[in-house]
Amino acid sequence: MFGSWVETIYYRLPVSLQNVAFSLLGLRLRRARFSRYFYRRLRELTESEHWSADQIAAYQDEEIRRLVADAYQNVPFYRRWYDEHGVDVEKIKTRDDLKHLPILTKALVRKHQKELVSGAFSRKSLDVMLTSGTSGTPLQIYCTREAISFQQAIWWRHRARFGLTPKTRYLMFGARLPITARQTRPPFWREDYFSHRTYLSTYHMTPDNMPAIVDFLQRRSYPFYVGYPSAISVLAQYLIDHNIRLNNPPRYVITASETLLPAFERTIREGIGAPVTDHYGMAEFAGNLAKCEQGRYHVDFECGYVEHRPLAGSVGPSQSLLLTGWGNPAMPFIRYEVGDSATPGDGPCECGRQSQSFERIDGRTEDYIRTPDGRMVIGLNQVLECGVGAQEMQIYQERLEEIEVRVVPGPDYGEASEQAMLRELRHRVGDSLAIRFVTVEHIPRTKSGKFRAVLSKLHGTTASEIELTKAVSE
Ligand SMILES: [Zn+2]
Repeated sequence: MFGSWVETIYYRLPVSLQNVAFSLLGLRLRRARFSRYFYRRLRELTESEHWSADQIAAYQDEEIRRLVADAYQNVPFYRRWYDEHGVDVEKIKTRDDLKHLPILTKALVRKHQKELVSGAFSRKSLDVMLTSGTSGTPLQIYCTREAISFQQAIWWRHRARFGLTPKTRYLMFGARLPITARQTRPPFWREDYFSHRTYLSTYHMTPDNMPAIVDFLQRRSYPFYVGYPSAISVLAQYLIDHNIRLNNPPRYVITASETLLPAFERTIREGIGAPVTDHYGMAEFAGNLAKCEQGRYHVDFECGYVEHRPLAGSVGPSQSLLLTGWGNPAMPFIRYEVGDSATPGDGPCECGRQSQSFERIDGRTEDYIRTPDGRMVIGLNQVLECGVGAQEMQIYQERLEEIEVRVVPGPDYGEASEQAMLRELRHRVGDSLAIRFVTVEHIPRTKSGKFRAVLSKLHGTTASEIELTKAVSE
C-alpha cells in the first residue's frame, strides 16, 4: 500500500495513528485527483451527457482522428504495427473507419507494453498504475495526471446522477488492506478523513467478525456504500440471515470492478435496503460505461468509443467489447479487445441520453467453458439467475468432459432451483459433457479479492486469442 518500510512502521502504530497516516495518504491522492482540472471536467461532463446523437458523433469522430494521428506519430508500437498492416492513418476519419485498423489483443499489449508508451511525454512526468493482471503478469499503465483526474470526473459524473458529490461521506468496501491480516479484533475499518470515506476491510468480513462490523454500521450513517458487489452482498446476506435492518441504510450502493450478477443485486437491495447502481471501467483508460437512472449502461462517450463483435462459437446476444479510448494520451488503447462481453441495448433509453447503451455487462470473455465438440460458451452468468435460494454459485470446469456447479445453498434452495439451472445449462452447452452439482460452504475469491461466477482451468488466454491462434493455424 505505501511501500515496504513505511508499511512495516504503519502496522506497528496504534489504530488512532493509523487513521492519521491513512488520511494523509488519502490527502495526497485526493490532491492529485480532485484538482481544479477535475472540477472543470466534471462541469463539462454534466453538460455533455445530454448532447444530441449528432453532437456525439461529431465529437467522437474528431477525437478518433486526433487519437489515431497522434498514436501513429508518437507511439512506437502503433507506427510499426500500422505500417506492417499497411494502414493509411490519414484515412481514419470517423468511428466507422476504425474497422480498418487491426485489433489490439491483451497478448499484444503484454508483449509490447513498453513500446505502447507515447514518446510525447517524459517518463518522469507520468504516473504508473498496475492492473490486477488476471493472467498473472500485471500490466504497467503509464498515465498523465490529467488522465487520472478525467477518469475520476467520469466516475463522479455517474455518482452525481444519484445525488452524490465528492464531499459526500461514503463507506468503501476494500480488499487491499490498510489492516493487517493478523488482526483478529475490531476495528476492521480505518478513516480517511480528507476523502470523507471510511474503509472497511472485506478480508475481515468473516462470520466471527460480522457482529462487530454490523454494530459499527448501526452507529454510523453513510449516504453511499462503494465496492465489489460480491463483498457487499456478503454483508447483505448476513443481515438477511439474522433478520437485521440497518438503522441508517445508504441512499445508494455503487458497485464496480466485478460483474454485477442479478443475484448480488437482489441480495444487496433486500439486505442493505438500498438500490444498486454499477459502473464499468479499467486501469487501461480504454473506456468506461455507467448505469443511468433507468438501469442501462451508457458509454461515457467523452473518453472513448465502443465497438462490439460476436465471438466465434458463442451463443446468445452477448458480444465482445472493443474499446478505443482518448482519455490518456500517454498510453493510448485503440480497438482494444479488453476481454469483457456485454449485451447491446435495444433501441433508445428512456432516460433520454443519446449515447450508446448496453443492457448489461455479461462478464469476462475469459469466463467461458469449453465443450468436447469444440464450442466456447460465454454468458453463463445468466444460468445462475435460475438458482433461486442459493447464496453463492460458481460454474467450474477442470476437465473437458465435465462442469461442476458449486452452490452455497440458502434455506430456500432446493430441487426446483437445481432443475431450472440444469435445463438452462443443457440448453447452452448441449449434451456432450456431464454436469455435476456440488454443495460447498464458501466460494474462494481470486488473489485480488474478486468473485468469479464462471471459472475454467482449461485455458489461460482470452477467447479472441484462441480465435486468432486458430485463424493462424488454419
Ligand atoms: Zn439511460
